[in-house]
Amino acid sequence: MMGYKILGTSFSACEICGSNTWSIVFSGAVRDGAFGKFSENTAVVAKCGGCGTDRLSEAHCHGDDDFYSSSKYRDLLSAGNTANDFFLAHDTLQLTNLGVLWPESVRGKTVADIGCAAGSFLDHVSGLAAKTIAIEPCEGYHDSLRSRGHAVFSSCEAAIEAGIQNVDYIFSFSVIEHVSNPRSFLADIAAMMAPSSRLLISTPNRRDVLMEMLPEDYQAFFYRTVHRWYFDRESFAECAKHAGLNVVSNRCVHRFGLSNALRWLRDRRPGGTQPLPSVTPVMDSCWQASLEHAGTGDYLYFWLGKPY
Ligand SMILES: [Zn+2]
Repeated sequence: MMGYKILGTSFSACEICGSNTWSIVFSGAVRDGAFGKFSENTAVVAKCGGCGTDRLSEAHCHGDDDFYSSSKYRDLLSAGNTANDFFLAHDTLQLTNLGVLWPESVRGKTVADIGCAAGSFLDHVSGLAAKTIAIEPCEGYHDSLRSRGHAVFSSCEAAIEAGIQNVDYIFSFSVIEHVSNPRSFLADIAAMMAPSSRLLISTPNRRDVLMEMLPEDYQAFFYRTVHRWYFDRESFAECAKHAGLNVVSNRCVHRFGLSNALRWLRDRRPGGTQPLPSVTPVMDSCWQASLEHAGTGDYLYFWLGKPY
């Protein structure tokens, strides 16, 4: 396949759609782990002329074969490697995921979570589901996942080989932006789906309001070495189509209150989630609802199904 050079950086044919046409959307140092750590070299983010997805130059991406199956990823985030470390950071995030699941119910259903890490989401639905399947490359979490009653596999391929199929509800939160090939990632999941199965995917929104409000500082934070792919609603729908799936519906969510954006504008860095003086919950609700309506919230969710 022909390479395509932008600012001295090579882009191969798009893994999603095969296009060889790329246009630059960002160049500079990007986040490498927690805030404050940046890539050493100038990274390039380019938009695919075929499917419209943005991609970080491969030379700047983390993600060699054992990056996610070992502790390297969590080490880079300085977030700790134990199941308890994961719960501390992720249990509170499940309310957003469950809010998007509503009003669907997983009662009596088979549920799988792809890239579930220590399985925080699965724990939140395991009381209702008939069976919970944890698919996670990092083996350090496997014993803990098994001890909480989840069936555990390292990959979709391994689950399918073990006879897992026709899973009613499949979830994958904040994973697709990391993978080498989003099209084959979705196609592998689709192999576990029946025509009636539903798949819920979440990923950061490239149209996040702060990308426009504070391009320089926020973009260097938004783009990061562990995220290879950056979607908006349109490019994600294209990706799904290439994987043989349909977007049934989508939802934009903004997970932060107004104070978060005000702090970014004031300090040009992330400032936590505590409200600023005089910022009320009503103002937060209005801010979040406005962004979600405009499609400029920080996260996107997609319900996917097979097109037959
Ligand atoms: Zn493409």
